[in-house]
Amino acid sequence: MATLEIRDLHVSVEAENGPREILKGVDLTVKQGETHAIMGPNGSGKSTLAYSLAGHPKYTVTGGSVLLDGEDVLEMSVDERARAGVFLAMQYPVEVPGVSVSNFLRTAATAVRGEAPKLRTWVKEVKEAMAALQMDPAFAERNVNEGFSGGEKKRHEILQLELLKPRIAILDETDSGLDVDALRVVSEGINRVRSTGEVGTLLVTHYTRILRYIKPDQVHVFAGGRIVESGGAELADKLEEEGYEAYVKGGASE
Ligand code: ADP
Ligand code: MG
Ligand code: MG
Repeated sequence: MATLEIRDLHVSVEAENGPREILKGVDLTVKQGETHAIMGPNGSGKSTLAYSLAGHPKYTVTGGSVLLDGEDVLEMSVDERARAGVFLAMQYPVEVPGVSVSNFLRTAATAVRGEAPKLRTWVKEVKEAMAALQMDPAFAERNVNEGFSGGEKKRHEILQLELLKPRIAILDETDSGLDVDALRVVSEGINRVRSTGEVGTLLVTHYTRILRYIKPDQVHVFAGGRIVESGGAELADKLEEEGYEAYVKGGASE
């Protein structure tokens, strides 16, 4: 049973006037099979947490620890983290000109699995996953994220999630910018992966609407670079009614 343990994590970025601390002591444990919603106002550091866990070089860890089944994640390179089963769906997926979706997925699957997937079963796997996400098969031949609509980008992130089968999935605002139909399709994809019981999910979101489709085991309020409150699904209802104001006042936000 995979367990991700984040302890007192401090992270800085290099700003114009020197290093700026964004994460100020994050504590969180995510076990395989669990879904945790991380909710917070813009600028509170949610994406910084997501990127730091994935190993983005822009973020410097200045304190604390991240362990996956006792292994030091912070010592791992980005691709070692991916092979260990850590997956990040980005808030703003990047274009990869000249690389088709189909090549990208096969390369990623090969890297993560340690061997190239068998072509026949792979083609079938991709087709089925795309159909489930209501993606046009022609999509596979387009260049990654080039000219994709917001909804197509997010479906493509969830397509990767379905095919790469991570142990810990960090989904950074996968819901933002989606219309209701796309939100439902994307949520169903996340729920399919989740229903295997094989993945621990960190659902980073600004809005509560995705939680109508995906019921979290725990909800955490993220403000000012740390988790300031944790609770069950009912905490999301409270946020829906009251917003983040109570947490941001008292200078918690920046
Ligand atoms: P969220 O995802 O919750 O909206 P982010 O993690 O994107 O928040 O950003 C947290 C804070 O870190 C913001 O105030 C943002 O401006 C700041 N930040 C992120 N990257 C940099 C950077 N390279 N230089 C300075 N500040 C940064
Ligand atoms: Mg933001
Ligand atoms: Mg963000």
